This record gives sequence, structure tokens and C-alpha cells, in this order.
Amino acid sequence: MTDYDVVVVGGRVAGASTALLLARAGARVALVDRGRRCSDTVSTHALMRAGVLQLSRWGLLDRLVAAGTPPVCRTTFHHEGRRPVEVSIRPSTGVDALYAPRRHVLDTILVDAAAEAGAEVLHQTHVTALLRDGHGRVTGVVARATDGRRVPITAPVTVGADGISSMVARAVDAPVEVQGRAASAVLYRYVPGCGASGYEWAYGGRAAAGVIPTNGGECCVFVSSTPERVRRLRRQGAEAAFDALLGIVGGAVAENVRDRGRPGGRIRGWAGTPGHVRRSWGPGWALVGDAGYFKDPITTHGMTDALRDAELLTDALLAVLDGSAEAVALADYQATRDRLSRDLFEVTEEVAAYEWHADRVQVLLRRVSSAMRAEVDLLEARVPRPAPWSAAGAGAPCSAEAPELGGHHS
Ligand SMILES: Cc1cc2nc3c(=O)[nH]c(=O)nc-3n(C[C@H](O)[C@H](O)[C@H](O)COP(=O)(O)OP(=O)(O)OC[C@H]3O[C@@H](n4cnc5c(N)ncnc54)[C@H](O)[C@@H]3O)c2cc1C
Repeated sequence: MTDYDVVVVGGRVAGASTALLLARAGARVALVDRGRRCSDTVSTHALMRAGVLQLSRWGLLDRLVAAGTPPVCRTTFHHEGRRPVEVSIRPSTGVDALYAPRRHVLDTILVDAAAEAGAEVLHQTHVTALLRDGHGRVTGVVARATDGRRVPITAPVTVGADGISSMVARAVDAPVEVQGRAASAVLYRYVPGCGASGYEWAYGGRAAAGVIPTNGGECCVFVSSTPERVRRLRRQGAEAAFDALLGIVGGAVAENVRDRGRPGGRIRGWAGTPGHVRRSWGPGWALVGDAGYFKDPITTHGMTDALRDAELLTDALLAVLDGSAEAVALADYQATRDRLSRDLFEVTEEVAAYEWHADRVQVLLRRVSSAMRAEVDLLEARVPRPAPWSAAGAGAPCSAEAPELGGHHS
């Protein structure tokens, strides 16, 4: 008898959602993360329609709204030398608006919902190795608990939801099947009282910028370009680099931020790393979220993908626990994920290369939008999972200030 049916390594969007859905379906799940509950991580927070749809169907959108996450009802695109284009968010079943929650808000809602559904959540528990049987099959993990003890946790399936540098992917030697080439370096900060009510994206001068309303009356304002360029600009300091890129990308966004916002908080950075698609399953293991498939953040879709893929992987794992052939169910999971992701991955590569001019980037953004539509169509066609818990969360609320910043930084 194993300790659990599934052990999930990594407790953010991908891992917490997978644990939540498995636990709601009655599986015995351990969700293990080396970080603390309510900790923050690198992100610009924008959820797209498919992500909001998932949260709504899982009965968690109310919690996001109750946590003060402002609705986003329109998106404005600014292109160098052109009039801004405004697109209203079309209300549809379960999605009246988009949202951009701070990560200590979203990830905690997901983790708490997983715990309420019966998953055992182990924070500050670092997975250091995988367990294997005599045939090399993964049979669980070894974790280092807060008191330094090394604890084996056994399960027939181990899910690596442990992000870009996934320890699980490394331990199973998961091959990279598609290697991206382009990467964005990003600088971002939170601007209090900026008052924007929609997403604003700006493209020009081989750089991009965005304004994203988030919790606490703040906007997340980002600028991005190639890693080499951002590195060069940063020699004058992060503040100078941020201002220079905001000026290069576009007057309108820069002016909006300056007019509306008070001086922003400290600048946070992401040095950039190219995307990857890894083989995401094998005997006794599977990968979900950035661990299996990461694309450049310029198209702000990683969390939305993670929420989608948590559901696809859950279907496969429940089939396996019900006696279906593991190799068939998990291969099907990856095939569906890859089919839904291919277009967006390819177009993201081109946007993140920053080699476009105004006409070309508009074509690319239309491709982004049509790739997202295909994903929404698929999710809308699925029978929604029952959402038994829609009341406000049971866990203690996180403080407004995020206590910890994890992830990669420049
Ligand atoms: C600069 C930037 C901006 C972005 N902006 C957006 C955006 O606007 N919208 C969007 O949708 N996406 C955005 N993304 C992408 C998004 O952040 C990721 O796709 C998303 O966080 C992936 O979630 P995940 O759960 O797979 O992994 P992560 O969020 O990376 O979580 C992995 C978890 O695993 C834990 N972990 C790792 N190793 C171990 C171990 N050995 N033992 C235990 N725990 C472990 C970590 O502590 C972490 O909590 C952005 C990314 C970047 C870099």
C-alpha cells in the first residue's frame, strides 16, 4: 500500500490545480512545495479567458473577486504610430471579465481549495530525489521536511509541477522535444493608484510594455525586450532601463502610467530563458505546467495553460487509477496538450524575437488571439467538473504584502 495515489511536487497554479481536481475526484493526494503558503513569485498576473473559465467552473472565481481582484473589461492595444485599438471582453458563460490576481492570492486560493478537498498540503518541504523500484519505475519522492528529516513519500504516480527548472524532469531525464530560441527579459513594478480598468499592451521599437490592473488598487506595469538589450540598458540601473524602455515602446502607455500612478514600487526583473516542450510522462511520472511546457511570458499565457493542463492531466490520472493503461492515458494527455499549445508556442517565439515592425506584430497578435479561441472552444465543449466548494476560502487570508519572492530573477 502506498502513502498516496499521487504525489504532486510544486504547489502553485499547475500543481495546486492538479491536486485540487484529483482530491475532489476522491484520489489520495500529497501536494508538496518547498515554499511557504501565501508566498509570491515572478509574474505579471494576466489571466486569459480560458484561465478565468477554469476558475469559474471549479467554483473559485468568487474567491478571487472576494479577495479584491479587479475585473478587466477591455484590452487596449497600442502600436507605434497607430491609433490605439480597444477590444471589449465579450461576456460568456462563466466569464464576464478577465482578472490578473497577485500570485499570493491565486496560488493560495488553489492550495486552500486542494486542502479542503482532502489533499495533504506540505509546505516548506523540499523534494530532493525520486524513489524507484527495481525496474526503474518512479514510486514516489524523498522530501526534506522543515526539521531536516528526509521523508519518503510513496505513490504510484509522481507529478512534477515544479516549474521551469523542474527537479522531477531532471531526475527522470525528460527529453526536450521542442526547444525555443527567443526569450524576453522583463522589468516590472507595482504602481499604486494607477486606476487603469483594462489591460493595455504596447509594441514598438522592438520592445513591449503593458499595464495590468491587479489587487490592492495597484497596476503591474512591465517593459520587455531582448535579454541583451535589457542587460545593456540596466548598466545605467534598473530605474533608468525601465524608463528608457517605457519611453521607447510608446508614449500613450508611458503617459497613462505617469499621469495616473504614484511612484511605483521597486523594480523586479526576469532575465529571460527560451521556451521548451518536454516529454511529459513516463513510468510512474508526469509533468504539468512550466515543468513540461514553458513559453516566453510575452503572450501572458503560462498560468492559463497550467490551469487547462491540470484538468487534462487529472483526466488521464483518474483513468490510470481506474485501471486504464498508463502509457495510453498519459500519451493522450501530452498529445492533447501539445495540439492545443503548438500554435501559441510558435507565435510566441516570433513575438519574443522582437524582430517585428508594427504591421507584422499586429498579424502575430491576431494569431495569438485565434490560438486562444481554439483552447476556449475545447474547454467550453467539456462537461464542467462539479464545483462543490464555492464559498469563501477556509484558510487564513494572506497579508497584502507578499512575504516571499521565489523563482528566477535577473
Ligand atoms: C516575468 C514573467 C511574467 C509572467 N507573466 C505571466 C502572465 O501575465 N500571465 C500568465 O498566465 N503567465 C505569466 N507568466 C508565466 C507563469 O508565471 C508560469 O507559467 C506559471 O507560474 C507556471 O506555474 P507552475 O505551477 O507550472 O510553476 P511555478 O509557478 O514555477 O511553481 C513551481 C512550484 O514548485 C516548487 N518547487 C520547485 N522545485 C521544488 C522541489 N524540489 N521541491 C518542492 N517544491 C518545489 C516551487 O517552490 C514553486 O512553488 C510569467 C512568467 C514570467 C517569468
